[in-house]
Amino acid sequence: MGLKVVKFGGSSLASAEQFRKVADIIKSDENRRYVVASAPGKRFKGDFKITDMFYLIYDRVAAGDNIDTLFEEITGRYQEIADGLGIEISMEAEFSRIKNALYGMAGRDYAASRGEYLNSMLLAKYMGYDFIDAAEVIFFKQDGTFDAERTNTVLAERLKRHPYAVVPGFYGSMPNGTIKTFSRGGSDITGSILARAANAELYENWTDVSGFLMADPRVVDDPKVIETITYRELRELSYMGATVLHEDAIFPVQIAGIPINIKNTNIPEDPGTMIVSTSDKYDTKTIITGIAGKKGFSAIHIEKDMMNGEVGFTRKILSELEERNISFEHLPSGIDTMTIMLKTEDIAKIREDLIVDIRHSVHPDSIYIQDGIALIAVVGRAMVKAKGTAAKLFSAIAKADINVKMIDQGSDELNIILGIEEADFEKAMSAIYHEFVG
Ligand code: ADP
Ligand code: ASP
Ligand code: MG
Repeated sequence: MGLKVVKFGGSSLASAEQFRKVADIIKSDENRRYVVASAPGKRFKGDFKITDMFYLIYDRVAAGDNIDTLFEEITGRYQEIADGLGIEISMEAEFSRIKNALYGMAGRDYAASRGEYLNSMLLAKYMGYDFIDAAEVIFFKQDGTFDAERTNTVLAERLKRHPYAVVPGFYGSMPNGTIKTFSRGGSDITGSILARAANAELYENWTDVSGFLMADPRVVDDPKVIETITYRELRELSYMGATVLHEDAIFPVQIAGIPINIKNTNIPEDPGTMIVSTSDKYDTKTIITGIAGKKGFSAIHIEKDMMNGEVGFTRKILSELEERNISFEHLPSGIDTMTIMLKTEDIAKIREDLIVDIRHSVHPDSIYIQDGIALIAVVGRAMVKAKGTAAKLFSAIAKADINVKMIDQGSDELNIILGIEEADFEKAMSAIYHEFVG
């Protein structure tokens, strides 16, 4: 067996008890040589994630408030883990350095990144592994995008000097040395980057569920675990809200063709989900691989007689969005109608201006914005092979008495996207799941 990169999420490292489970998992396989750690997550319902507490502390400093109590609460969480594990480690110097940097306005991303930084130090100490600061090996370009090639070269070289190491997830550094984070949930990306640089045989992503489930367990009761899913299917699902793995975590391992195994820290014997580049196998009974969805979308409905024949009509409208740096999600259209589906928050500040400008540039017969839309993605590599998937989907929706506002099927038939009213979201997810899975 070749080497494995293992990433543990926030709930897997939220307390001393969880640290012990993690250490047992790592020690039970000597190939688990590189570990990516998240910041401590919630220990119980209603608890706070350390990352959120660091964002809060940044806001307090920026507002000129006193942060002593909050800072003590954060450091107390780490101290509790260290004490619970009986680790001899003095973190006072680190704590005071961080506090000074916060007061020195080291930045929002710097603040957020300290969650994983401190947790990884603790885990490295507990495991007897080396600690490698992500700021020294993960790089962003001047424009803020991830510098994949520089990172891969430097990291691969660095790992040669450390046979066993813990690396904090979620952040790296800008060309000038300041700390920058990925978007939320970004430790998954760090794990993938490490897997590529270490040329790992497998990237294990350990979390609090026994794999990628066919639907969000917070919406559908006890959904089935997906045994095998492709990178592309997973990206569709995670983009649409299945947050178990960050949607961008696919890219680094995809380059190297390394599979990802989603595993449960609390039930390590469960096989979990394998994420692979391609697969011919599929469940002939369920056909679909999974469903996911999100609320918070708006539709701009535009109507104009003969719009279809007006050359440049779509381009003029889209350039209004481009000028404002807004991307859209879907663009279903008919002969005389067009709908632009986008995130409500993306147009929040400019919606009136946008409508006025579109009116000016294409003179539509009518134009209005409809809010409160949810999108649901039904994803499956087998849909292209199986007839009747769409019929099944729409009969489920009709039986549940739900009105469909938009339908979009990708040309590769990997997914069908539905737009519905937010109020129908939970009902629709359940209806679709049970229609396909039973
Ligand atoms: P971690 O802290 O380990 O990175 P996350 O909270 O980011 O874990 O992701 C795991 C959570 O994702 C699960 O606890 C579950 O509530 C949620 N989730 C949403 N959709 C799915 C899905 N389709 N399959 C599994 N988990 C899902
Ligand atoms: N701690 C970060 C977050 O809460 C990154 C992660 O957990 O992956 O978003
Ligand atoms: Mg996560």
